[in-house]
Amino acid sequence: MSKLPLLPGATLGILGGGQLGRMFTIAARTMGYKVMVLDPDPQSPAGQMADVHLQADYTDHGALKKLGEACAAVTTEFENVPAESLIELAKNCRVSPGADAVAIVQDRSREKSWLADNGFATAPFALINNEADLEAGAKATGFPAILKVSRFGYDGKGQFRVASAEELKAAFAELKGIACVLEGFVNLEREVSVVLARDDAGQCALFPVAENRHENGILDVSIVPARVADALAQTAIDMARNVAGKLGYVGVMAVEFFVADGKLLVNEIAPRPHNSGHYTLDACATDQFEQQVRALCGLPLGDTRLLSPVVMVNILGDRWVNGGPHWDKLLAHPNIKLHLYGKETARPGRKMGHFNVLDANLDEALSLAENMRQKL
Ligand code: AMP
Repeated sequence: MSKLPLLPGATLGILGGGQLGRMFTIAARTMGYKVMVLDPDPQSPAGQMADVHLQADYTDHGALKKLGEACAAVTTEFENVPAESLIELAKNCRVSPGADAVAIVQDRSREKSWLADNGFATAPFALINNEADLEAGAKATGFPAILKVSRFGYDGKGQFRVASAEELKAAFAELKGIACVLEGFVNLEREVSVVLARDDAGQCALFPVAENRHENGILDVSIVPARVADALAQTAIDMARNVAGKLGYVGVMAVEFFVADGKLLVNEIAPRPHNSGHYTLDACATDQFEQQVRALCGLPLGDTRLLSPVVMVNILGDRWVNGGPHWDKLLAHPNIKLHLYGKETARPGRKMGHFNVLDANLDEALSLAENMRQKL
């Protein structure tokens, strides 16, 4: 294993070649590191930017060996990477985050149970492994509720809202009886998230709290600073730090919260940079991808200070349907920063890019962001 800190010139690896991997790759290369990406997709957004793109599956033993031998350290951009692949890689190089933490958060049943066991408030939930669990589960959560698959769900996919025992039974049958979590529907006042990094010594650097708006289960807009009371923002920061500490986490992670009845409930943990942290790219002294490089390399974590209020808007593939997007309108504004991910094919719901609107006045930033969101 290479000695820490890993300095520019070293080769870093990333599992997954989507937009998060791309922005990690750009940050790492900007800082003088070489980057190797493992992703089966020949046109992966990160592969386009990397020094080397290994086109292979995440369980391909040969590719994992090659990656582990070529890289001083490897990280991941998505939670569904098999924990076994991380264990295999760790034989040859530093791996962060570790397989144990990823194994917990990549499985919604394990994640929810872990949160409850460690004293973190969540929406009421029940584990559903077979039809016999449905009745007691529904008693625990009440209706309406949401049935969510334990593995491989994202952006609201693999979720069914159910209002009765009959609907619940039908939804579970439609999911072919795979392991699920049933969650009571909470009355959302807001959703907020905290992106943070934790180093090997247990020191945390936390980014400011983001307020998030979703549409159809997909993040639409992040507003920073979040428009919540200071005490609530501080509690979110403290809870996120505690989640990372109790997981023994090393690297960048995000904790998403619901605000309901004035209280914070942990919704999800992501073992990687997060869409709701894209505002850091233009509005913070260090962005979440540089922070990922720093944590991976064992460097001191960067300054997370917010330099300007900011509103981040996601650009989905839907925009391409009616002759858009109108980049000229967007780029006419000197305080809007555009980030596109190099994806060739636009599909509804596919994340193609995002833009950050910066303004000393948050209300002005929000109004321009809304305006551009309509016109784009
Ligand atoms: P998830 O994939 O679990 O983050 O769910 C996607 C979105 O659905 C969340 O960001 C919320 O807007 C909404 N949602 C999920 N679970 C609940 C819940 N238990 N109560 C109310 N809204 C929810």
